Amino acid sequence: MSLITVGTMAFDAIETPFGKVEKIIGGSATYVAYAASNFINKVQQISIVGYDFPEDEMQEMKKRGIIMEGVEVVPDKKSFFWSGRYHLDMNTRDTLITDLNVLEDFNPIVPESYQGTEFLMLGNLMPKLQLSVINQLRVRPKLIVLDTMNFWMDIALDDLKAVLKKIDVLLVNDGEARQLSGEVSLVKAAKVIMNMGPRFLIIKKGEHGALLFHENHVFFAPALPLEEVFDPTGAGDTFAGGFIGYLAKTKDISFENMKTAIIVGSAMASFCVEKFGPDRLKEISKADIDERLSEFVQLVNFDIDLV
Ligand code: AMP
Repeated sequence: MSLITVGTMAFDAIETPFGKVEKIIGGSATYVAYAASNFINKVQQISIVGYDFPEDEMQEMKKRGIIMEGVEVVPDKKSFFWSGRYHLDMNTRDTLITDLNVLEDFNPIVPESYQGTEFLMLGNLMPKLQLSVINQLRVRPKLIVLDTMNFWMDIALDDLKAVLKKIDVLLVNDGEARQLSGEVSLVKAAKVIMNMGPRFLIIKKGEHGALLFHENHVFFAPALPLEEVFDPTGAGDTFAGGFIGYLAKTKDISFENMKTAIIVGSAMASFCVEKFGPDRLKEISKADIDERLSEFVQLVNFDIDLV
């Protein structure tokens, strides 16, 4: 089963109430690929980096079966750089710096060997580049999932609306769902957004879990209550990687299977936040993932006798 992942590979500087790091590996496609590689063998990456992106990180990704043929290396420019500061609740953050650098003239090219892929994960990136990748695929993938953020709603809303018409699943957080729809109620927001194109909508609510909407159905996946959240950066992308990785592995894109997939996404995200950057994602094994999934089952399992 094949999966293309598209997005940024970056450096991040992060401040949380509990610590600060100046320059660590980040980027939407980095997190997506690390998470998805736990479920499927060949993750076909499309991204761009500058001269400063570490070769050992590229090697680490290759070791996990992530194919880097679609990752362009620009010899005379810096990699994308993002910096953010988290509020005390760790659920909200302010973007301090977004330096596009190599992204400024990124023109993603889908390698010939990626054609015919069945799953496409469009990680957070300029909407017009997400659209360009869809348009280059000669056969439409079975499932197209798109992640985006308020930054693109602010500066490229028309492009975002154009790409929304072409996708199956949209992932946003609660604030972004409200911004995109103009509705305060998330149920109303979901209806408005699904009218813009996607048949499925996932609204992420940080430590309060995620909602999956489809037609008149809604399903809720909790986030695992953790004693310590170290760094939430990349949790959304990791969620996305777990979600689509699981769907690609099971080859089933029904609403029923998506319910399990958002639990898997939540489980993967719960690892991501335990350390700065994608470090924790590199340590975990299948046994760790299985154990965490059973914690989720315990979390939501209950008996009730309706009288
Ligand atoms: P998340 O916490 O899941 O929203 O993802 C954070 C990651 O997204 C960081 O590692 C950043 O490098 C990356 N990122 C931040 N802003 C953008 C943006 N405007 N476009 C693409 N990637 C971004």
